[in-house]
Amino acid sequence: MSRIAYVNGRYRPHDLATVHIEDRGYQFADGVYEVCEVKDGALIDTTRHLARLERSLSELEIPEPMGRKPLVAVMREVVRRNRVRNGMVYIQVTRGVAPREHTYPMAGTPSALVITARAADPRKAAKTAENGVAVISVPDNRWERVDIKSVSLLPNVMAKEKAKRAGAKEAWFVDADGYVTEGSSTNAWIVTADGALVTRPAEHGILKGITRAAILDLAQRDNLTVEERPFTLEEAYAAREAFITAATTLVMPVVRIDDHAIGNGQPGSIASGLRERFHEVVEVTAV
Ligand code: PMP
Repeated sequence: MSRIAYVNGRYRPHDLATVHIEDRGYQFADGVYEVCEVKDGALIDTTRHLARLERSLSELEIPEPMGRKPLVAVMREVVRRNRVRNGMVYIQVTRGVAPREHTYPMAGTPSALVITARAADPRKAAKTAENGVAVISVPDNRWERVDIKSVSLLPNVMAKEKAKRAGAKEAWFVDADGYVTEGSSTNAWIVTADGALVTRPAEHGILKGITRAAILDLAQRDNLTVEERPFTLEEAYAAREAFITAATTLVMPVVRIDDHAIGNGQPGSIASGLRERFHEVVEVTAV
């Protein structure tokens, strides 16, 4: 079956879908994005994802391409047309098309909107989660506004490639003081010896993950202890468990960080339990 992409008001065959060469996303990485999970033919946590999209746009003064309701309608249509049961929807909004000047284009220049959907095999992800993943650490060399979900992802791309070359699945950024900020495309968590979940506060230095927020909800519902505080790489090496979260990864146990096995080197029971119960606390929008 051929894939379909939504591009600026039109549904196009994926292979033929194009944007203009002077799209500011292409020339300046002047745009933002969102990734939503699709599970059993439904969108997961759209309200939170679209609220974050609106915030990213407003921080950059990029006009919203359309309201939240029509945007959800297009997301559902893209999922439907691609017959995705499990996988993800990708939304990208850029500051539109204009002659190449660093300054923002003329008022009224429409922002550009692309939405795609892609299937993923949940059984494959489950298998990965049974084994856990390895993580490497890299210096955090990103700009200060990583709270904005910008498509400007070069440090993240380079970090993830370095992880891949080292046989790992993710790279954890470490700030100048030795504290872990987050993964290149995931939030970072550890579990202390007495079972507390530790993750960095989302005010500075990280993207406020939607999956992270759902896990905080789940932890509260299940009376787990949570410490929102920075943690060092050394503390992570010695942690009882570690895991990463993101909309497409869900909760993924980490069994190795650099040369250190985490816990007994197997996925921990807390991370695995959170992964199992994750969808009990999310918003589900039928397609
Ligand atoms: N941090 C970064 C840098 C990311 O790219 C992502 C994935 N978008 C996350 C964290 C996790 O966010 P979410 O749970 O909303 O997918």
